[in-house]
Amino acid sequence: MAVKLVTFAAGGRETPGLIDPNDETRVLDLTPVVGERSLLEVVEDWDRLGPELAEARNLPAVAGPTLRAPFPVPRRDLFAVGKNYREHVAEFGRSGYDTPQRSEDLPDKPIVFSKATTSVTGPYDDVEAHTGITSELDYESELAVIIGRGGRGISYDDAMGHVWGYTIVNDVTARDVQRDHKQWLLGKSLDTHAPMGPWAVTADEVGDVTSLEVSSSVNGEPRQKAPVADLIFDVPELIRVISAGITLLPGDVIATGTPAGVGIGYDPPRFLQPGDVVECAITGLGALRNTIR
Ligand code: MG
Repeated sequence: MAVKLVTFAAGGRETPGLIDPNDETRVLDLTPVVGERSLLEVVEDWDRLGPELAEARNLPAVAGPTLRAPFPVPRRDLFAVGKNYREHVAEFGRSGYDTPQRSEDLPDKPIVFSKATTSVTGPYDDVEAHTGITSELDYESELAVIIGRGGRGISYDDAMGHVWGYTIVNDVTARDVQRDHKQWLLGKSLDTHAPMGPWAVTADEVGDVTSLEVSSSVNGEPRQKAPVADLIFDVPELIRVISAGITLLPGDVIATGTPAGVGIGYDPPRFLQPGDVVECAITGLGALRNTIR
């Protein structure tokens, strides 16, 4: 079932919705099909609910929906991948922020870290500047994989069968914190530093994921632009490596890495300031648009 799903706020709860295939500005309320379930629970029960959703007719439209992240409270920290586009590896190595490696060499194995669940925020929400903690705020537009069927020891060839779909994550990074603490968790996990969405798009709707293009802009000025085909470690390889000893669960999110063009790629670096508007877009997956506050 090829669909674009969302989570919207209504009546004090967060409700799954369907983007109207005939009008992408319209959100249809999925409550008649999924009841009180969250979008995470819908993904968990997709084998049953996917076909029911395909049959649904005359779903009510939501007036003026406020979109949340597809998973406003993910089931656990997001998986994320560092240094996974060639040109970005070079700009990161040159910048001097890549501690302790400080290298422009390509990684020979994926670099996997995590972002705290509490860093997740909505596709159009403000991103906190955290001025008391960082003065070097940066953006990273990324394709994020949503796991459908969980598993451990997933092979490269089976991996795409475990993908439910895709969304966008801005892997917002406090570069000074990332550098100074040597390990990336703190610099990557400040509250509101993982805008996600706007949609969760099923894999069959996306088709060939390597044909998508990842981009970003700041205040309308283009910054990043690269095809997903440029990933050093592709989606099935990331799933193979992460699941080798960690059981992947339905609803797990893997942010796959960012292309060149981030703030530290410039000399001098161009960090985000309060009032800046960052847009992260991917072909067919929509766009995040967040203001730094
Ligand atoms: Mg990143």
